[in-house]
Amino acid sequence: MSTATPQKFEFQAEISQLLDIVTHSLYTEKEIFIRELVSNASDALEKLRHTQLTEKDIFDDTLTLEINVTTDDKAKTITIQDFGIGMTRAELVENLGTIAHSGSKAFLKSLAEGDQKNTNLIGQFGVGFYSAFMVAKSVKVYSHSWRASEPGHVWTSTGSGSYEIEESEGQRRGSKIVIELKDDCADFAQDWKVKEILERYSAFVSFPINLNGKHVNAIQALWLRNKNEIKDEEYNAFYKFQAHAFDEPRLRLHFSADAPLSINALLFVPKDNTEKLGFSRLEPSVALYCRKVMIDAKPKNLLPEWLRFLKGVVDSEDLPLNISRETMQDKALIEKLNKVITKRFLKFLEDEAKNHAEAYAEFYTEFGIFLKEGAAMDFTHKDQIVKLLRFESSLTEKGKTTSLADYASRMTGDAKEIYYLVGPNRAAIESGPYLEAFKARNLEVLFCYEAVDEYVMNNVREFDGKKLTAADHADVKLSDIPKPEGALSDADVATLTKWMKETLDARVAEVKASDRLVDSPVLALNADKFMSPHMRRMMKAMNKDGTETPLRVNLEINPRHAVIKRLFELHTSSPEKAKLVTEQLLDNALISAGLLDDATAMVARLNKLLESV
Ligand code: ADP
Repeated sequence: MSTATPQKFEFQAEISQLLDIVTHSLYTEKEIFIRELVSNASDALEKLRHTQLTEKDIFDDTLTLEINVTTDDKAKTITIQDFGIGMTRAELVENLGTIAHSGSKAFLKSLAEGDQKNTNLIGQFGVGFYSAFMVAKSVKVYSHSWRASEPGHVWTSTGSGSYEIEESEGQRRGSKIVIELKDDCADFAQDWKVKEILERYSAFVSFPINLNGKHVNAIQALWLRNKNEIKDEEYNAFYKFQAHAFDEPRLRLHFSADAPLSINALLFVPKDNTEKLGFSRLEPSVALYCRKVMIDAKPKNLLPEWLRFLKGVVDSEDLPLNISRETMQDKALIEKLNKVITKRFLKFLEDEAKNHAEAYAEFYTEFGIFLKEGAAMDFTHKDQIVKLLRFESSLTEKGKTTSLADYASRMTGDAKEIYYLVGPNRAAIESGPYLEAFKARNLEVLFCYEAVDEYVMNNVREFDGKKLTAADHADVKLSDIPKPEGALSDADVATLTKWMKETLDARVAEVKASDRLVDSPVLALNADKFMSPHMRRMMKAMNKDGTETPLRVNLEINPRHAVIKRLFELHTSSPEKAKLVTEQLLDNALISAGLLDDATAMVARLNKLLESV
């Protein structure tokens, strides 16, 4: 059928309803109509490419497969033209007048389910072609099908109830959509504005996009190419473009998978951890694509929260073709993608740690904090992440680290616990009183320097069946070792500890002889199961004016130490002085444990002691 005069059609009722919502929506990101139309254009070119494989007689067959966007700020128009498959008259009616396509259908369905007020839905669903009416006074679609026998047509509508179709002479193959912009949307007729939008959403469309004659999407869909053919410089340029970054990426993972999902992914770890540098919390920024068309630049659930430092692109063909109109609606699918990519990235880090230990160590110094967050919070991937953690230990050199697996491989006999100590740095832990007991028994202790470590250890709890245990906890039982000569007798120790407990009274829960101490006279052990020294400090910082949890420690003394032996003599010969010494010993132990809150009393006491020298 062909008609020379314009023919008027009513939109299908659902389309009218849809248009009514779209045109009256207050949706702020109106610019997405460009993404939608460019992605339709790209689909149309893709379809043509397929048609060319089987059909010989193609209209205008010499045309380049490209998309041309032109703006006219005087006339306030924007035009998006593709040399794709085009539409016949019947197809114009079918595609742009009825609701055969799934994106808009799903949109309407969710409206019917009572989401009317959520204008954001438009952004989520995209609603494809019809999004043009957010910005348009009128839309004209000039289209010529690839079938040479069909004439060209122009489809016209103002978006209110009806549209017209008329034959039109002299058309090229494909579709040309001319939008006459509403006055308050005239910005979309500005070259700079449209350039910005195209760069943001359509940089990786695999067909050339020209804006007012200038090529704007110079960077191709790198992630779909064979990695053996991609140079480092190309990867780096892509990273900089995609992540809006100025640095060179530290690590990169380019992989594809077919099962259980078809995925092409290109992930980068930046050089620096900007959160560590004090910048604001990173936002997830691995973009989600479906066949080179961007669906979401910052998808929230594509990767776990702790992988928010990653940049790059994930492209999955398994996303329904229309997911750009139903962004992230398919939760199950996104979850599956999340699992597959996270597992693969963790495997990559494991390999890095094995094959490029030095680079991994540098990565860890910068980004290890995210792995710790993952180990503590991400139950699904915990086991894999814990393997990637690294700590200095009593057996490593300063600056060198060990994994928990290596620690476990060094454990002897029936040892079942992995010990750790938390402290500000290596020197502080090594000079403290806690380590010596473990050293004397050849037990390795991990050194934890970061505030979150204790939280991480508490959440991780165990590795490979071995319990992670704080070495400064009162519950830790250590094996007997031969007692050196010259210690106070058991009876003397009993007398002294009893006297010390009476002297210190409520400040300690218990005073007893230590089986741990070798070189130090005393140590304080945390007697509170639920409140470690670090936790206590944190609580205190958060609860400045609130009531403090009373401190409860066990004081352990070293019966072999000269100070203790001297104290035993003093407590009968000069009880006043012995009291001062005992109080001072407790404060010394609290300082080592990081538990002394106020040193004022201590200074006064020390001065008194010094008087007697
Ligand atoms: P969707 O793209 O989700 O199917 P749209 O509303 O964007 O929904 O488009 C409806 C249909 O119109 C498309 O499925 C396609 O068949 C047709 N169409 C839209 N734009 C073009 C174009 N530039 N060239 C050819 N066909 C098009």
